[in-house]
Amino acid sequence: MNNKTTVLIVEDEHAIRNFMSTILTSNGYRVIVATGGAEAISLIGSHCPDVILLDLGLPDIEGTEVLKSVREWSSIPVIVVSARTFEREKVEALDMGADDYITKPFGSSELLARIRTALRHSHKILTKDMGGKNEFVTGDLVIDFANRRVKVAEKEVHLTQIEYKILVLFARYVGRVLTYDFIINEIWGIPSEKNSQQLLRVNMANIRRKIEENPGNPKYILTEVGVGYRMADLEN
Ligand code: CA
Repeated sequence: MNNKTTVLIVEDEHAIRNFMSTILTSNGYRVIVATGGAEAISLIGSHCPDVILLDLGLPDIEGTEVLKSVREWSSIPVIVVSARTFEREKVEALDMGADDYITKPFGSSELLARIRTALRHSHKILTKDMGGKNEFVTGDLVIDFANRRVKVAEKEVHLTQIEYKILVLFARYVGRVLTYDFIINEIWGIPSEKNSQQLLRVNMANIRRKIEENPGNPKYILTEVGVGYRMADLEN
C-alpha cells in the first residue's frame, strides 16, 4: 500500500528533472518521470498521478498536446513548467485547462507551494466544500456570501455588482492564476477583445483601490504580468 501523493514530472531536460525529482522525493511525494509527451500520456493513463508537472517544450509532441489529451478524460491538476520563451504557449495552456504555471528558473519553495495549491484546489472540487461555505477568508479580507458583503480588517467595503462578482471569482480559485480571457468570459460571457481587457483593468483598479492598503503594491490580488491575476492565499 502506498498512500503517498504521486507527482508525474514531464521534462526532457535532465538537470531540471533531477532537481524537481529530488525536492519532491525529499518532501514525501512519490515521483514518476516521463522525458517526452507520448510517454507522459501513457504514464498518466496507467498511473493516474495526483499532480502533473508539464514542461511545454518537449522533444516529440508539444506540451499543450499532452494537456489536451489529459483534459479529454481527467481533471488531474496540471502545472505547466515553462521557459520565458514560451509565454504564448503558457497562456494558451492555462486557457486549455492547466491549473497553474511555474517559470524556469524556480526554487524549491515555489515549486512546493504550487503543488500544495493545486492539490488543495483539486481536493476542494472533489469535496465540493466551496459550494456550501458561507464565508471566504484570506488575510484580513472576508467575503460573506450569504449577505454579499466584503470586509477588510473589519471595515466594510462597498463594491459594485461587477466588482463583487470578480472578487468572488478570484476567491473561488484562490491561489490560482486566472487568465484575462478566463476572467472576461466568466464575468461578461464574451470573448476577450481590446475593450473587454480595458474594462477588466478599470474594474481591477477600482477593486484594488477599495480592498488594498497600497493599491500599487497589492497584497490580495496579484498581477501575473502578461497572463492575468491571482488571489493570494494568505494566513487568516
Ligand atoms: Ca524542455
